[in-house]
Amino acid sequence: MTAHASHPKSPRPVSLSDLGRLARGRIPGQVVIQYTDRCNASCVQCGMRTGNRFTRSTLRPDFLAPQIEAMAARGVAAISFTGGEPLLCLEDIAPLARRAREAGIRYVRTGTNGFYFRDHERLDFAARVAQLADTLLASGFNAFWISLDSAEADLHEANRGLPGVVEGIRKALPIFHAHGLYPAANLGINRTTGGRTTDGDDAPPPHDPHRPDSFDAAAFTGFFREAFRRFYAFVESLGFTTVNACYPMSAEESPPGGGDVADESAVSAHEAVYAATSADDFIRFSRQEKAALFAALFEVIPEFRGRLRIFTPRSSLLALMRRYGDGTPNGHYPCRGGIDFFFMDAARGHIFPCGYRGGEDMGLFSNFDPARVTTKPFCDRCDWECFRDPSELFGPVMDVFSRPLSLAKRFFSDAAYRRTWIEDMRYALACDGCSAVIPPRPAKLAHFARPRPSV
Ligand code: SF4
Ligand code: SF4
Repeated sequence: MTAHASHPKSPRPVSLSDLGRLARGRIPGQVVIQYTDRCNASCVQCGMRTGNRFTRSTLRPDFLAPQIEAMAARGVAAISFTGGEPLLCLEDIAPLARRAREAGIRYVRTGTNGFYFRDHERLDFAARVAQLADTLLASGFNAFWISLDSAEADLHEANRGLPGVVEGIRKALPIFHAHGLYPAANLGINRTTGGRTTDGDDAPPPHDPHRPDSFDAAAFTGFFREAFRRFYAFVESLGFTTVNACYPMSAEESPPGGGDVADESAVSAHEAVYAATSADDFIRFSRQEKAALFAALFEVIPEFRGRLRIFTPRSSLLALMRRYGDGTPNGHYPCRGGIDFFFMDAARGHIFPCGYRGGEDMGLFSNFDPARVTTKPFCDRCDWECFRDPSELFGPVMDVFSRPLSLAKRFFSDAAYRRTWIEDMRYALACDGCSAVIPPRPAKLAHFARPRPSV
């Protein structure tokens, strides 16, 4: 298939019906569907890694198809097929994606840990990647992510247990691009994101939360500034045009906010229905470390916005920096989980406010209507970017309709926030919402190029 072969076009980032919804104080809805919790990778940061013993589950197409129809009928704008490893079930999810698009769901997303790309020396590699691109495009997927967690291939592959995958990704990207599909690198932020330092170290040592005075915030920010620079340069060198960052999601055995834990914002392992978490120091950061880490990402993104389409909104990072930092009122927008955004688990096919509030089983989507939810958004327990980033980005748009004076006051009194949010919105438009079926527009992105600051 060529770059211009027929496949569903990416929709406009914001439609008229979205504006109507925003005027009513609601965000375009999304459901993250965990199609399976089976996986063939060994990531230390995840409870679903291969070898972790628990009863695995996979949804069925005949169960999910009517649920998806109900989502479309009730105004859900976006669904994501996640896992586990979603491509283990490509034969199921491809027709379901097609059905979702035909029913009116505008954004249909999936991704992979990259296992498809391990065997890049096989003679049929190019044909298999081309076949995958054709299937994804014909099914109407308009976002496709590939996990990549370190600027150094061997560190990433050792953690994932997928030797050779990075070279396979490098070979696969031009094939995808020739077909008109632009996958995003999906970074799960961890201590080895930057690869090895010049001293040969992989990672900064974990901060001891019981010795807050020993923490050097400037040094930690400096470490991660270089880590993110190395990472973005690496994905660009591989051929990616688009990048996302998943904020560290650690799970604690104690309830969130309670007990003697390193990270009071960590989700509770007991409550999570989505096991994409771990208490391992690989992704576990103290509050001080998080403030420094988010500050580093906030600073580095502008250096790469002129060359890469980067999902991560800096206004969301600003809210997180303030949340974990010096106590500056952060004015953040609470999460829309349980109001406009939902998570469906693989074990029962039930929906939950998100993957981390497993005590709030909301049953089948087909028995549910999000329009009837009257709860006001309140939750800010964790940093799950899938739900938190759009909650932050759309917050001021809703305020235009419902609280214009309060928004004007905020914009007037907080110039840093105002500038950051407005630039995020302009950048999102220049990136075409980071659509995987629209090629990047370098001339548009060039307006956002910012030089690396001199120290
Ligand atoms: S992070 Fe993804 S690829 Fe890794 S074990 Fe978990 S589900 Fe599998
Ligand atoms: S902040 Fe959002 S994703 Fe996190 S626990 Fe609350 S509702 Fe769930």
